[in-house]
Amino acid sequence: MSTTDTTQEIQVVARTHVVVLGAGYAGAMAANRLRRNPAVAVTVVNPQPFFVQRIRLHQFVSGTGDPLVGFDDVLADDIRVVVDTATRIDAGARRVHLASGAHLDYDHLIYAIGTRHRTPEIPGAEHALFIADWASAQRIRERVEGLGAHEMITVVGGGLTGIEVAAELAERGHDVRLVGGRGIASSVGERARSATEKQLIRLGVDVVDTGRVVEIGERTVTVDIDGERNVLPSAATILATGFEAPELAADSGLATDEIGRLRTDATLAGIDDDRIVGAGDAVAVEGMPLRMSCQAAEPLGAQAAEAVLARIAGEQPNPVDQGFVAQCASIGRRAATLQFTRRDDSPARAVVTGRLAAWTKELVCRGTVWNIRHEATHPGAFRWFRGGDLTTTTEPALR
Ligand SMILES: Cc1cc2nc3c(=O)[nH]c(=O)nc-3n(C[C@H](O)[C@H](O)[C@H](O)COP(=O)(O)OP(=O)(O)OC[C@H]3O[C@@H](n4cnc5c(N)ncnc54)[C@H](O)[C@@H]3O)c2cc1C
Repeated sequence: MSTTDTTQEIQVVARTHVVVLGAGYAGAMAANRLRRNPAVAVTVVNPQPFFVQRIRLHQFVSGTGDPLVGFDDVLADDIRVVVDTATRIDAGARRVHLASGAHLDYDHLIYAIGTRHRTPEIPGAEHALFIADWASAQRIRERVEGLGAHEMITVVGGGLTGIEVAAELAERGHDVRLVGGRGIASSVGERARSATEKQLIRLGVDVVDTGRVVEIGERTVTVDIDGERNVLPSAATILATGFEAPELAADSGLATDEIGRLRTDATLAGIDDDRIVGAGDAVAVEGMPLRMSCQAAEPLGAQAAEAVLARIAGEQPNPVDQGFVAQCASIGRRAATLQFTRRDDSPARAVVTGRLAAWTKELVCRGTVWNIRHEATHPGAFRWFRGGDLTTTTEPALR
């Protein structure tokens, strides 16, 4: 892995050049897998000079875990890393413009820039913090560290991300309220849902199951509970209410869905241009709704690389083939909920809770990094659960 100073004009390499935008779970996996073909030169563009384990950001905000991993630990030696942000893709010229003013020319591009928070239409949302990416997590940590004893933190959003944040903070001794909106853990089955809620309450979280936040103040939050407006103290309000993709694809004139994700066909090729291949949370694969997750992102990254390698070889890429195995949320460090799923992510019968689930979740977190690291030294080794046709799936669960 080598890092390039972007104040210089970036040299274009003579071999087939693949640029990977974003070095998260999908992009890092894709970059390593591309090395199955030694004739391919790989450049990765990422704003941070390290790999951020997004699935540990709730640990970072509460001080229970470090989400950062050096690129030298997860990317293959001959991958060039450019620490910069892509600002526009000129598909016609096959060129990516970067925030530093430099540009990169490519033969093929992998678009894997993930997602960020989506600001809901709640009056006063400018007072809120968001849990989505490295920058937003740093802001939460700063605020949380400045809170006095027993100052209330409100986490909004009863999906798996909101649950993980609320639990982690409560276990560290903070006063936490979790406002469910659409309910707590509505994506898992009833047994898993009720175990999750019980564990949250055990940790001291004030669970407002179906309450809906209707206004956010500097130090208050207004919650509608059964039609009644309740103004409650909230020294920090953290929204975990959903993600959207950055504007890059839309600003570059590429086809996107309603939350800004690059639209691709079933082989991950961009609808407008098959030299641009998408992977991870930042893409909407035609007819295949996938829950935003590293569980989906790593297989997508591997398949994006395979699609590019197939095109370089003059072959037709295969359609995406993957499925889900489980939904898993940590509930502090000592418990978790592991809901096994059918391949379309709908809940199956098996549920594991408590310490065994917490231990499994920790193994999963380590495993996601191990997968990428192993792919760096053994390109092509990563295997995933192939789910077959998921086109009957309707609505993906909210993370
Ligand atoms: C608190 C939390 C807990 C989670 N827990 C789980 C879990 O337990 N299990 C699970 O499956 N999923 C979990 N998720 C979701 C999971 O983190 C994402 O689905 C996953 O990170 C998606 O991977 P990705 O590679 O598509 O995007 P990311 O991991 O977000 O990587 C995208 C990369 O692109 C970079 N980038 C952004 N814009 C640009 C640009 N313009 N130019 C270049 N680079 C750019 C970003 O900085 C980032 O490094 C969690 C998310 C959060 C926030």
